[in-house]
Amino acid sequence: MKTLLKFIGIALLTFTFAFTGANTKIIVIDIGHGEKDSGAQFENISEKDVVLSIAKKIQENHRNNYTKVLLTRSSDAFLSLEDRAKMINKLNPEFVISLHANLHEDESKSGTEIYISENNKEIEKSKQLAQNIAQSFDIANSQIKTANFKILKDVNCPSALVELGFLSNAEDRKMLTSEDGQLDFAKKILKVINKD
Ligand SMILES: [Zn+2]
Repeated sequence: MKTLLKFIGIALLTFTFAFTGANTKIIVIDIGHGEKDSGAQFENISEKDVVLSIAKKIQENHRNNYTKVLLTRSSDAFLSLEDRAKMINKLNPEFVISLHANLHEDESKSGTEIYISENNKEIEKSKQLAQNIAQSFDIANSQIKTANFKILKDVNCPSALVELGFLSNAEDRKMLTSEDGQLDFAKKILKVINKD
């Protein structure tokens, strides 16, 4: 059943792709974790739900006929990192932004973190993407970190991973879980999508 659902999901994405005009740019928002993989967990708040909700707001508030925003999942579904990378490579987007939320035992630790991989095939464009994200989130370029996450190194397109904030920090948690906070994150990502 799960395999069937996954297949339908990929088929739907492919279908959407087939009906996208030649001049339309595809942007993929990868939604971290899902189903059995909750990601970071703080009390009853799961990273997988928080990032899904923010990604949906990105898609809902996207108003640009020249770009199409596709999500790697639209529900609480599990996708392996291999399947994510395969799906993204099939869609061949302009770039992918992977959304996550952080957790730390030090509850004072807060803020957004941006990651790229030096092993990504489009590293220069990934750097530019990360800088655009940094600008939108008001973070210095020097704060952009490198990590060899699969979603960064195994995709053929420019790719950046954003840890939006810390579920363990009270202020960040309020942003990550409130309607207004989620919309604010969505708008910051949309600013990156709508740049040039
Ligand atoms: Zn995560």
